[in-house]
Amino acid sequence: MKKSPECKKCRRVGAKLFLKGEKCDSQKCPMIKKPYSPGEKPKRRKGPLSQYGKELTEKQKLRYWYDLKEKQLLKYVKSIIRKQERSEAAGDQLLKKLESRLDNTVYRAGFADSRSKARQMINHGFFNVNERPVDRPSYQLKVGDVISVRSGKKNRRDFEDFEERMKNFTPPSWISLDKKKMEAKKTGEAVVEDIAPPVEISSIFEFYSR
Ligand code: SF4
Repeated sequence: MKKSPECKKCRRVGAKLFLKGEKCDSQKCPMIKKPYSPGEKPKRRKGPLSQYGKELTEKQKLRYWYDLKEKQLLKYVKSIIRKQERSEAAGDQLLKKLESRLDNTVYRAGFADSRSKARQMINHGFFNVNERPVDRPSYQLKVGDVISVRSGKKNRRDFEDFEERMKNFTPPSWISLDKKKMEAKKTGEAVVEDIAPPVEISSIFEFYSR
């Protein structure tokens, strides 16, 4: 079976990050049989991580989870650190900002089965925001903004199984979805308790404050 770079990311940080759509909920997920780093021998695990190692791992988890480049995540964290002292609220702010990205919202609304797929579709001009084309995955959505699939893109292969996929799909509470019109509206800010990335957010601020 072809090894997926996404799955290697999960194995490297030792957590399921759900980067491969359906495969993540199936028995094919490599984290079931090989929950250790690629190349590592299971019987020869390394000792406990240093404080730096732990912070680095948490940072990588968040970066992979939202499919961000190092520079992008750094920019979000620094802008929050600049504005206020580190606190619990800083972690919430960071998550809300990341959740408001267009690529994340396209994924959360069910138009794509992973954030990387959502990003690819945005780059290919699949979506309007408030009836205007937007091809920037990092675009920050505000409450009330409406994402819609552009009419010329609705019949593309990417949406072949959309109706079927949507049958049992419910978006998070801050997104309302009109499945027939293929439109999603951001109705509020993301609820931090419901986002739940498997990450210790405070470690990320510690990492970037070194
Ligand atoms: Fe691969 Fe998904 Fe499993 Fe991660 S959670 S290892 S991306 S199948």
